[in-house]
Amino acid sequence: MADTFVLTATDLQKEYDMGKSKEQALAKVSLEIQEGEIISVIGESGSGKSTLLNLLSTIDKPTAGTVEYNGRRIDNLNQKQASRLRLEEFGFVFQKYNLMPSLNIYDNIILPVAVMNQKWDKEYLAEICKRLGIEEQLRKMPGQLSGGEQQRVAIARALVNQPKVVFADEPTGNLDSRNGNEVFRILLDCARTEGKTVIFVTHNMELAGMADRKYTLQDGEIIDKI
Ligand code: ADP
Ligand code: MG
Repeated sequence: MADTFVLTATDLQKEYDMGKSKEQALAKVSLEIQEGEIISVIGESGSGKSTLLNLLSTIDKPTAGTVEYNGRRIDNLNQKQASRLRLEEFGFVFQKYNLMPSLNIYDNIILPVAVMNQKWDKEYLAEICKRLGIEEQLRKMPGQLSGGEQQRVAIARALVNQPKVVFADEPTGNLDSRNGNEVFRILLDCARTEGKTVIFVTHNMELAGMADRKYTLQDGEIIDKI
């Protein structure tokens, strides 16, 4: 089948209004990602990696250009439509894991679906917790977990809604690269088995090399795609 792109960006542009000046974070970025592809995004700090992920995932809106998901425009959704799309289709791993300190691990994992009053597949959740080796940690609080364990929890949370696309922005946080890579590799393995699309930002070349393709950003532009 032709044109089976899951995500397409066309001339995507993002400017931040800084009062007197404008900061151009992304300049006319176009890309096409197929279903099931695992894509890494690399580039120096400030090159626009997080901005690109936020625009592709409806977390932020472009100044110009379009984003399509399965052939449907998603850059112009209202907040409610965007939340629903993210709940149904997308999963997220953030750099600092963003666990809620006052909720136990189980409640942290189910938070994205619970806040939308949705149900989750308990069997699937038990299976991913087992795979990530956190099934004994579910009643603990985030503060009682090591960095590596928190990363595992963040990955379980990104998968709890059985998303089609997972966005991960520097998913290994401040962990040393060996441990961080090992855990993120579990997510990539899950994704490959289940045909999920993954788009992840990293500074780690070993991790970037595990992707099918790599986009390199510089000053808000894609300078290399392989
Ligand atoms: P990266 O993730 O590659 O480090 P970002 O996408 O965070 O880069 O940022 C790209 C550029 O946009 C940088 O110059 C950054 O300072 C700027 N930028 C990012 N977010 C904002 C914001 N909320 N307000 C103003 N400028 C921003
Ligand atoms: Mg960033």
